[in-house]
Amino acid sequence: TSSAAKPKAIDLSHHLNELSRSRVPSPLKDIIKYMKEPGMISLAGGLPHPDLFPFAEITATSYVPDVDLRSTSGEDIHSTLNFSIPKNVSPSHQNTLSAALQYGTSYGSANLSSFIREFTSRVMNPAYSDFEILLDSGNTDAWNKVVNILCEFGDYILVEEHTYPSSQAVWAPMKCIGVPISIDKNGLIPESLHDTLKNWNNTHPGVKRPHLLYTVPVGHNPTGSTLSLERKKKIYEICVEYDIIICEDDPYYFLQFPPYTLRPSSSETQKTAENPVAFDRQAYIESLVPTFISLDVQGRVIRLDTFSKTLGPGNRLGYFVCNPLFAERILRATEVTTQSPSGLSQALVEGLLTSWGQDGYLRWLSGLRDSYTSRRNWMCEIMAETFDLLPSPQNITDDVVAVQKGHASTKDTFPYFSFSFPKGGMFLWIKLYLAHNATYQDLKTTSSSGAVATAKWAEAFWMDLIKEKVLLVPGSYYTPIVGNNERMIQDSDVVFFRVAFSYETKEEMKIGIERMAVVIQRWWNGEA
Ligand code: PMP
Ligand code: PLP
Repeated sequence: TSSAAKPKAIDLSHHLNELSRSRVPSPLKDIIKYMKEPGMISLAGGLPHPDLFPFAEITATSYVPDVDLRSTSGEDIHSTLNFSIPKNVSPSHQNTLSAALQYGTSYGSANLSSFIREFTSRVMNPAYSDFEILLDSGNTDAWNKVVNILCEFGDYILVEEHTYPSSQAVWAPMKCIGVPISIDKNGLIPESLHDTLKNWNNTHPGVKRPHLLYTVPVGHNPTGSTLSLERKKKIYEICVEYDIIICEDDPYYFLQFPPYTLRPSSSETQKTAENPVAFDRQAYIESLVPTFISLDVQGRVIRLDTFSKTLGPGNRLGYFVCNPLFAERILRATEVTTQSPSGLSQALVEGLLTSWGQDGYLRWLSGLRDSYTSRRNWMCEIMAETFDLLPSPQNITDDVVAVQKGHASTKDTFPYFSFSFPKGGMFLWIKLYLAHNATYQDLKTTSSSGAVATAKWAEAFWMDLIKEKVLLVPGSYYTPIVGNNERMIQDSDVVFFRVAFSYETKEEMKIGIERMAVVIQRWWNGEA
């Protein structure tokens, strides 16, 4: 559908908080428009003169987008491209240091924004016509700005029942309160969201209903789940019904993997990145679950995209896709805080993306997806080599349970933990079962509650993992904050850990998982 046929964003101004409604434009910005008038001699702006900037030219060497990513750690790389960023503009160079190092508008570089706009239109296809692109310093910066335009002190915010901790750390000091929505291996459960909102006036009489949902829809941090299109549609409908703004924090969008299936023998290789096929742009785009913004006929989705997982977090560069009203309010807040993302960062990323082109960037992303798919496969294969993985029984909703190696056929073997094969992102989320753990049972008799015993057990177990030199993130870090310094009460008898497959080599992963198995055996054989 062409954008002319699409509706415009509806008026959602009632969602803005008082701080944002009260913001006025930065007074100095008025001056910029007159500075651009022909013939004007500007004695106005406090701009440093570009001749006095110390960088004369930047030349950069990047990989070609279809580089074999398995070889980029080697010394001998021939698949590179060069581009330069000169000081001044010329017919062949619009991207210049005199602009990059100067004050600019808080929208960010116009060239980079227009590249991103075209990319967003082609790949995300927003369902309303007047969406805007606003550059920011990554999703951390972006989410902070979203909270700062939408949330009042004490607001309730809808979150997944395991949620990204830095996102909470933004609103916790504002005495906001998380409303945990149930999730499963396929992400946020629409029915749970609906029940929470439908019953709000009974469960929270006299309390303002939440109006913001924070979600990580793909390769969820920490659980690794990815929402299906069906679920996204249902969630969007519910958010329309209850007038909720959806903030999709989507750093892992391009890391969506084909499903992993448990193989009878570990000697066969999973059919994926090991046998790369020719790049098919359309097939790659179609393999990605559509975004919330693609369903958004009203402009109630604020999409946070970041280059952190695609080009490197140190770029500190990302962008909002949102309705014009929210973009304008965020811009006003940006003018007096970050002003714009780093000019050097924008210039380098603009140089890279324009030399790769739209298809080149997609090609790069598909290569990344293949690399992370291999890593996901390594992790799952190593799990299968280290433990016996059995299909989960009825009462466990994960894909598989892990039992002691060689005990797979014993009926009375209790699972150590369960997990689901990640369909995106960088994480595998394991759920340990303590019901048959003797140390835990002892702790329970001496603790004030099951939850206290669970927390004590998790802490001691984690310290033992560290002693064995394998580091995981305790699941408790992701527990929603549901009151002043209060965390949601989790089920006792289970403990979660997040295991990342994004960084270590296959050999290191294997050693790490083996160390984990040693600690698990120690704790289940009563030797801890
Ligand atoms: N404070 C003062 C007093 C200034 O004069 C300026 C620059 N004109 C700024 C802050 C903005 O500084 P920066 O570019 O480091 O954000
Ligand atoms: N949001 C989520 C869900 C993340 O997992 C991360 C990185 O780990 C971030 C935001 C941070 O992103 P950025 O580097 O763009 O600030």
